[in-house]
Amino acid sequence: MRSVRIFLSVSIFITAFIGDYLVFHSRYSNSFVYRALTDNFIHASIGFLSALLFFENILVTRQAWLYNVIFCTIVASLIDIDHFVVAKSIHIKDLNNLKHRGFLHCSSLWFAVTSILFLYSYLHRKLNIYILTFMLTIAYTSHHIRDANRRGLWFYPYGHTQPIPKYLYITVLSILPMIFVYVFQYFKPQSKDTVVQYSMLA
Ligand SMILES: [Zn+2]
Repeated sequence: MRSVRIFLSVSIFITAFIGDYLVFHSRYSNSFVYRALTDNFIHASIGFLSALLFFENILVTRQAWLYNVIFCTIVASLIDIDHFVVAKSIHIKDLNNLKHRGFLHCSSLWFAVTSILFLYSYLHRKLNIYILTFMLTIAYTSHHIRDANRRGLWFYPYGHTQPIPKYLYITVLSILPMIFVYVFQYFKPQSKDTVVQYSMLA
């Protein structure tokens, strides 16, 4: 439904906008733990809303819908786990003094992995992996673009782009799932089995 799509798109915009305020300008923002937890919650929420918006346009079984939305939400949140890898520590003091970004924040790495999955699922007509690839793509692009407001996008080996201005990044976030819907429909593999089976995962 068109009204639901508009509602979800606006929800992403508002979540990112209010999220930035909550993370950086609230009375608790001096606390590193508060900032890290709130920031991560906003990443997860945007991943969740983006997956919902994507599936407003793509027809799958209820089970496939549920697994994929949960998967996208978790990946969008877990990308920040590489802070612990870079710090080689779980202590706040070390996490607060990171010298460089973790590998999960490298956009070219994610692009390479999702491109391989995309090609594989397209050529072998694997609809489940094809959908999963779009979930990974939505998760990492939404996370990286939001982070890019502060630190730019990281394309190894070329380095970082300039930070993305606030309103530009928020607008991109709220229309990105719709762009992926068009790509999905355009290249969608014509699988013989129309029902996506996820029961093996349960
Ligand atoms: Zn991050």
